[in-house]
Amino acid sequence: MAGKPGSLYWMNHSDYKLNVEVIFENDTVWIEGKANIKYYNESPDSLKMIVLRSYQDMMADAALRNWYILPQNETRQVKYSDLLIDDDTIPSTVLTQNRTSTNLLVRLDEPLKSGNSINMQLSWKYYMHPNINIRQGVYENNAVFIAYWYPQVAVYDDIYGWDMTDYVGIVEFYNDFNNYDVSITLPAGYLVWAGGVLQNPSEVYSPELKKKVDLALHSDDVIKIITKDDLSADNGKMGKATWKFKAENTPDFTFAASKTHLWDASGIEVEDGRRVLVSSVYPDSSKHYHKAAGFARDAIEYLSFESPGVPYPWPSMTVFNCGEGGGGMESPMMVNNGDQNLETFADEVVFHEISHSYLPFFTGTNERRFAWMDEGWATYQQMKWRDDPESPDAGSSEAGYRMTAGTSHDLPLMISTYAIFDGQASSFSSYTHASQAFITIEDQLGLEKMNKAWKIYTERWHHKHPSPWDLFAIFEEVAGYDLEWLFLPWYYEFKYQDLELTSVDTGTGEIIVSNTGGLPLPVYLVLVYEDGTVKKIHKKPEVFKASDKVIIKIDKTEELGSVKLGHPWFFESDDTNNTWKKK
Ligand SMILES: [Zn+2]
Repeated sequence: MAGKPGSLYWMNHSDYKLNVEVIFENDTVWIEGKANIKYYNESPDSLKMIVLRSYQDMMADAALRNWYILPQNETRQVKYSDLLIDDDTIPSTVLTQNRTSTNLLVRLDEPLKSGNSINMQLSWKYYMHPNINIRQGVYENNAVFIAYWYPQVAVYDDIYGWDMTDYVGIVEFYNDFNNYDVSITLPAGYLVWAGGVLQNPSEVYSPELKKKVDLALHSDDVIKIITKDDLSADNGKMGKATWKFKAENTPDFTFAASKTHLWDASGIEVEDGRRVLVSSVYPDSSKHYHKAAGFARDAIEYLSFESPGVPYPWPSMTVFNCGEGGGGMESPMMVNNGDQNLETFADEVVFHEISHSYLPFFTGTNERRFAWMDEGWATYQQMKWRDDPESPDAGSSEAGYRMTAGTSHDLPLMISTYAIFDGQASSFSSYTHASQAFITIEDQLGLEKMNKAWKIYTERWHHKHPSPWDLFAIFEEVAGYDLEWLFLPWYYEFKYQDLELTSVDTGTGEIIVSNTGGLPLPVYLVLVYEDGTVKKIHKKPEVFKASDKVIIKIDKTEELGSVKLGHPWFFESDDTNNTWKKK
């Protein structure tokens, strides 16, 4: 594989026109929408059916699910009606009979030929669960984050055909790059934030609010756009308001709405003349999101200018704090974060979710099969950004590594994400194991070449669907040599991370380090001499290319007091065999 799209490379895509109303009636919240989808078949194949994803069917009884919910919390399937295909009414049985757990299989009378497009129109309605909030939901004071919410054409690609993976709660993104034209109607008094550009600010913002948003975009400081005082002024609005957004060439569209969230924002210039609006939207009771516009701005600055050094590719980023739970959930230009206990953790979750703006959203990796690509990426960037290897807290995630490494939950990365139903195994693979693989590759290539590889990957594959083998090819291209010795154990084999300081011979000056776990890792040694002198030795993972032992020669051996093996960024399942002291 050459690591670049071939001359015949194609991708299908859609233009979505979505008209949706979010309806609140006491404690019941539901979505009613009408979708017009124009789907373009750029593939060389005739398509006999279209697969539409119906994510919220995951909550229905009898759905396939990898997320436990009590039987009384199950809902009904999403209700679809009024399906038209190219102006032909399609019998409603098509929408009720041909369903998998979360897919609608719409069989076409006439196949959709290569190079042609099809118009689909359908209405849908579903109830949002009042308190089971999986990646989206209804929160305090009827604030909502709406994601996984509209009938979405699944990906048809040149490797796997239709992606028929059901959404079971843990498999996430693999989407085409589409255009969205979305109208959202809600009760007046709500403010709406979305992963797109607002088309009618003068209709939905007061002149003063509009001024503040413009000011924030052009300010490097954080501007308080909505404060507690502004909230009381908005009370008592009647009727409805319609918010119009557009987003181009983007893999998804999500939005949030609230009457009671506060709003801070700032701008950042990510490349010449292009500024990004960075917002934090949070309830006043939030523990740490009063500071999150700053966290988000710092994250975008780091990703744009340090690593990978690719300008943040979208016009805005809104961090929505739902106030529940501790995790976070990414979508293009929006993240939905819980409220973490510690400020540092909130900062990290903000960083992690924003780093997904690159993978899987800009460079469209397949998270349903290879979640390690984007989750590994986000975790690896998060570790580098957070962790000063010299600080005493560095490598704090190693304890978590040890609980799983080398056990039956520790699976090779190439096992498809959707096939791993064990939560411990799936999160270990996608986050821990995957980020350790990337940091190891970075150690082998060096930071400069690693960033170059990410840049090439982004430049060649943004708005496209790269495979893992494209990434491997780019790493080898940048390295200038073969890396199969590293990829095979790290991605395909049952191995774990453990080095051992086997022996220190002060007579011969030979230190032997063994690779007992089988995954090639760098060797970091700290030598402390009796006069207090410290010497550091680093050997790249390639020392274990052909052998599971490496001999490191040192001089000045008589005064050697101690040797310590290891580095906080590289986890080991056993560190009791990593030190030597002079007797
Ligand atoms: Zn993530």
